[in-house]
Amino acid sequence: MSGSAATDRAASRQSSGTQDKIPVFQPYLGEEVQRAVQDALGAGWLGMGRLTRDFEIGIARFLSLPADRHLVATNSCTEALHLAAVIAGLGPGDEVICPSFTYVAGHQAMSMTGAEVVFCDVEQDTLGIDPASVAELVGPRTRAIMAVHYAGLPPRGLDAVYDLATQSGLRVIEDAAHAFGSRLPNDGMVGSGGDLTCFSFGPVKVITSLEGGAVITPREEDVQTLHELRLIGVDSDTDARYNNSRTWEYDVVRQGYRCHLGTIPAAIGLAQLALVDEFIANRRGYCRHYDAALADLPQVRTFHADWSNVSPFIYVIRVPSGDDRARLQQHLAELGIATGIHFQGAHEFSYYKTCRRGPLDVTERVSAEVLTLPLHSYMTESSLDRVVGGVRSFFGS
Ligand SMILES: *Cc1c(COP(=O)(O)O)cnc(C)c1O
Repeated sequence: MSGSAATDRAASRQSSGTQDKIPVFQPYLGEEVQRAVQDALGAGWLGMGRLTRDFEIGIARFLSLPADRHLVATNSCTEALHLAAVIAGLGPGDEVICPSFTYVAGHQAMSMTGAEVVFCDVEQDTLGIDPASVAELVGPRTRAIMAVHYAGLPPRGLDAVYDLATQSGLRVIEDAAHAFGSRLPNDGMVGSGGDLTCFSFGPVKVITSLEGGAVITPREEDVQTLHELRLIGVDSDTDARYNNSRTWEYDVVRQGYRCHLGTIPAAIGLAQLALVDEFIANRRGYCRHYDAALADLPQVRTFHADWSNVSPFIYVIRVPSGDDRARLQQHLAELGIATGIHFQGAHEFSYYKTCRRGPLDVTERVSAEVLTLPLHSYMTESSLDRVVGGVRSFFGS
């Protein structure tokens, strides 16, 4: 990729004046992406097809998946998580232990199977799953644990969660929606090891296919099952569709769902995947810039992350004191700077408030403190300066 193409992409994202609003997310939809859509539309095959297969192969290659890990693309991470839950055998009467502090897509994907969600806490440094909190909740009906790579950071307790799962005979489902391209310490990319792992290629994620996701399984025999689950229970149409064709003789062998990934989303995903190294490098740079520029503010906590192993999806600060977060959010909004909140605890939602749970002290504290600042794959120095200046001016410095 030439340096000037990269500069052009950055320039095409350049904000023209200081009055522009800065969104929290801004997917890259430049020339390469537009061209990929045009070409795919021109080929006249819209459903799951050759490009879906190419996207699966491309992702597996990017993640350096070993031969014993198998990847199946879906139309969302929610559905990838749902299929992972089905593969893990979750159903009515089972429990799955999940952090309350994550996006409700994960909880919905689990409870879709009829299993009950049980809420555990997160640990305070990476806001990832707290293994001690999980250990206290494991019971006779527990079948799986869902761990989340919050903000792309590897959860500090992940190894301990796997140890616990091995001891107790539980499956682990990793929601890696935030961690496409993150590395585990002394290990490969997230997804290249472990149990069931799911990614999102939704509209705002590090790479997008508009809507999309993928599930990785360590068991070869799951692949056929996943193909059937993905395609309304049909046993033998996947290979034909991978060749932009159809089979008219097939059996329906199980209850399935309609969650395969179409050609146009795959084309967009492939165009984004070709740029992912640049996206990640840029995002790391912006996170480091924010870290350095906010380091001396006593009212703000950052993650002190070593971004070199992280594919940053969101840049989150914590504002520990009282109602400062709401007022800071308002102050930034008045300056045209959008912010987000990842996440509020799911145990407070109407649908989940009767779920079994352990103490959620960290969840309750941090969900009142976290604030997501704008992070895009292409940001200008002036928009970074505006965000930093907005935060600093709120605290009078
Ligand atoms: C975005 C997200 C999901 C859902 O991804 P979709 O592709 O939109 O279904 C799940 N979990 C987390 C933590 C997410 O951020």
